[in-house]
Amino acid sequence: MAEPGLFLAPTALRAVLEGLPDATVAADRSLRIVFANALAEELFGRPREEMIGQPIQILWPERRREQYTRNAELYFSTEHPLRFTLRAYGLKADGTEFIGEMSWGIVETDGGPLLLAIGRDISERREAEARLARQSGQQAAVAALGERALAGADAADLAAEAIERMLETLPIERVDVHEDGAVSVHPADALDEDAQSFVRAVSTVLATAMWRRRDETRMRHEALHDPLTGLANRALCYDRLTHALARAARAHENAGVLFIDLDNFKRVNDVYGHAAGDDLLIAIARRLAATVRPADTVARLGGDEFVVVCEEITEEGAVGLGARLEEAIREPIVVSGAEHRMSASIGIALGSEDVGPDALLADADAAAYRAKAEGRSRVEVFDTRLRRHADERRRTAETLERALSLGQLRLAFQPIVSLQDDRAIAYEALLRWDRPDGGTSSPSDFIPVAEESALIVEIGAWVLRRACEEAAASGATVWVNLSGRQLAQPDLAALVSSCLSSAGLEPARLNLELTETILLHAPMTGVRNLAELKKLGTGLVLDDFGTGYSSLGHLRDYPVDGVKIDRSFISELGVSDGDTAIVAAIVSLAAALGLDAVAEGVEDVVQARVLRELGCPFAQGFLFGMPGPRMG
Ligand code: C2E
Ligand code: MG
Ligand code: MG
Repeated sequence: MAEPGLFLAPTALRAVLEGLPDATVAADRSLRIVFANALAEELFGRPREEMIGQPIQILWPERRREQYTRNAELYFSTEHPLRFTLRAYGLKADGTEFIGEMSWGIVETDGGPLLLAIGRDISERREAEARLARQSGQQAAVAALGERALAGADAADLAAEAIERMLETLPIERVDVHEDGAVSVHPADALDEDAQSFVRAVSTVLATAMWRRRDETRMRHEALHDPLTGLANRALCYDRLTHALARAARAHENAGVLFIDLDNFKRVNDVYGHAAGDDLLIAIARRLAATVRPADTVARLGGDEFVVVCEEITEEGAVGLGARLEEAIREPIVVSGAEHRMSASIGIALGSEDVGPDALLADADAAAYRAKAEGRSRVEVFDTRLRRHADERRRTAETLERALSLGQLRLAFQPIVSLQDDRAIAYEALLRWDRPDGGTSSPSDFIPVAEESALIVEIGAWVLRRACEEAAASGATVWVNLSGRQLAQPDLAALVSSCLSSAGLEPARLNLELTETILLHAPMTGVRNLAELKKLGTGLVLDDFGTGYSSLGHLRDYPVDGVKIDRSFISELGVSDGDTAIVAAIVSLAAALGLDAVAEGVEDVVQARVLRELGCPFAQGFLFGMPGPRMG
């Protein structure tokens, strides 16, 4: 081992080293200190005699020694010359640590390579920097997490505190919190394992806080949007509408609501499956959103019902928009490899704050309902007549709900006769509602309301039970009207079967009446129900034949035993040649297909005579018998 200073013999050189404006220490390959200048004495608080010949590790804090030693050995083993600057911790004789900004280098000398460390204490500067970094680190955290999250959430508080501690206690220059929740820490120096695990922990806490915040944002979004289509949901729609109404009132304008009800959507769902139905709704949602103005809100209220809320719109504008929306919906849509042609019934209602969001939505709904009733695929504007009608419907629905439990419903039975001998072959059960005000409502008024509210299922079950009991008691055959909703009930066949057996009625003595419209729109469950009812042995009859969309040609496609020719053709029988021809055609077609034909609403003898001449086997109407309390 060389004597200390031996290789630095030239005094000039020694003077230069002494005079260096920074603390300078040199160590040999075995990491023994071979040189230290005056500033090094000052920096480390040791006279150079105490340093020279000692391992350089005495100048490093205990906890850094192993790491710095490994580094120094690495420097010696790499290619020389090597020069770089970094921050490192130093240890003073009194045991205090400082942070030094050090230039390191390996220099070749005659006696072999030397490690040269030249640097100064930057603890104060570093303190100032750390303060700044802390601030910017916190700012970064605040920016990424949001003030709200930092103030409210424990995780975010913890994270902010942890960043602060990290900046204080570790050789860390900067902490970046990224938008995706990732945290990058920029160390000023290599981190030991403790420090690394601390940084990892902080990063996890930060990321958790970030995700929590994202969850909150997502949950806020989810609470206000329809998960399937991403459109506004009912709550947000209501909110926007309230806002639009207030705005419209201030501007002395009207806000508009367009209620969009898809036609026959259920059919797509039933035939192609729910996934296809979902895809279709998504496609339509996109089209609606693309058709409206940016300020308008498109919402999905559920099922196949959509609403567009417009701030400040005229009736003309709303009708124009309605037509464009209808057009957009009509464009063929390819879903699950099949092309679908959809249409919608659209109802429009305009108003400002005096109307209120509930009423306006109900008005638009009523208008859409009317659009549907008037043949679908059209746009209707709500007017006061409609509002009265809607109010009435609402009131009817409310009182009807109690009618069943209050015993206000009863059945009337009207005979169906053979035109050969005028004898009753069966009775049709017709529902009656004796209202508390003393009047009796016609089913044409309240059945559609019951149908809308699903009350019809309960009422229909009651009708079936009562009709079967009465038929069993009187020994007659009974014909019972079924509603569309009843047909869609998966347990319909089970219900019919239970009514029959508890009344002790043979299935053949029950005939179920369905309209063409119901059959045409029957979902899959309905089609299955028909098959099950047939298996059960009950009869099926097509009611109000001729009023639906289907032509005579479709008659053979229905799984029915008979047709009831609608009253509208019978009333002009013998007067209108056209109607007589239609009835003649239906009667002969029914006979050819082996179906029983019944003429409805026969009121006079002329009609009865013509029917007999046409060979119609059965008839029903005031001429043969009014609906009465008993069969027979
Ligand atoms: P519908 O099944 O076509 O019943 C025949 C309707 O014509 C009955 O009206 C009956 O009273 C009436 N009618 C019978 N003969 C004549 C006549 O000679 N001249 C005239 N002008 N009318 C006659 P109602 O009882 O008011 O029933 C109306 C509709 O309500 C029924 O038409 C049926 O579709 C429905 N309905 C009745 N009861 C029920 C029921 O229990 N369930 C369901 N879902 N619908 C029912
Ligand atoms: Mg009927
Ligand atoms: Mg009828």
